Amino acid sequence: MYRVAFIGLGTMGYPMAGHLAKQHETTVWNRTASKAQAHAQQFGSHAVENLTDTAQAEFIFTCLPTSVEVEAVAEQLLPALKPGTVWIDCTSGDPNHSRRIAERLRSVGCDFLDAPVSGGKVGAEAGNLTVMVGGSQPTFNRALPVIQAFAGKVFHVGDVGAGHAVKAVNNILLAIGLLATAEGLVTLAKQGVDPAIALEVINVSSGRSFASEVHFPERVLTRAFPNTFSLALLAKDARIAVSIAREAYVPAPLMQLAAEMFEMAKRQIGGDVDHTAVVQLIESWAGTQIAPKQGT
Ligand code: NDP
Repeated sequence: MYRVAFIGLGTMGYPMAGHLAKQHETTVWNRTASKAQAHAQQFGSHAVENLTDTAQAEFIFTCLPTSVEVEAVAEQLLPALKPGTVWIDCTSGDPNHSRRIAERLRSVGCDFLDAPVSGGKVGAEAGNLTVMVGGSQPTFNRALPVIQAFAGKVFHVGDVGAGHAVKAVNNILLAIGLLATAEGLVTLAKQGVDPAIALEVINVSSGRSFASEVHFPERVLTRAFPNTFSLALLAKDARIAVSIAREAYVPAPLMQLAAEMFEMAKRQIGGDVDHTAVVQLIESWAGTQIAPKQGT
């Protein structure tokens, strides 16, 4: 059993910290303190209101919207941290930003891993997230048994920043899949094809993707668009993917277009809706809906 702390009890962090609390002595802090108190009641974690009270942990987890908030809490905690502490950032962050945070932590003898996750709210609740970790081998080895509390698969993908890079590329592929599938299905709806049948065909054919197999049947055809991962967060991931491609002089026109479209969608329909709501924008441009035909 280790002493761990978890900072950021949002859609992902709340259940992830819950799994940690089943195996380790877990301290939780959240900007909105009532969520930390609810967590303590539900999972037997220890809620603190003062951020610096998390500094006694051997492993400190963060799961915040972006690297900007991670850096802010790291700077606040820096004077209180003990040498040897491992900071594990599960935010879908920016690789360059993470390298800077890792350097600051190293200056006080602490190690850093970027460990973003995939699997969504469902995976976080089930404790079977996929975790892609960037950092040194010895730090990865130390942290692995702790990370496994909420993981199905854990991959060590490279040095600090590599986890965030893999996550950003994964998510821009999701963004492209959503946009492309929406364009394809509004085209078919205009041709008089029932989108539900079109999806059945595509999902046993070569045009299928996570978007067509999961998002469209579960979120678009049902018109439910449940908000589990905000459009603003996917727009941020797309921006990160484009920035790391640019930095390496990689021509990436598809990635750039997808990132621009998510940025425009964020401004037009707001960032707080589910990321799949981008489909509604494409529907409005086409003047049709991707919904099963009446009576089918
Ligand atoms: P949420 O918006 O649900 O939660 C964000 C958390 O960050 C909350 O605990 C919030 O506190 C806290 N927070 C926000 N701003 C600040 C701040 N300035 N200072 C301190 N705390 C702050 O986000 P998610 O859980 O959905 O996402 C977290 C990360 O995980 C993101 O990087 C996202 O891209 C990634 N991710 C999300 C997935 C999903 O399906 N939702 C899947 C995989 C990765 P408060 O409660 O006070 O608002």
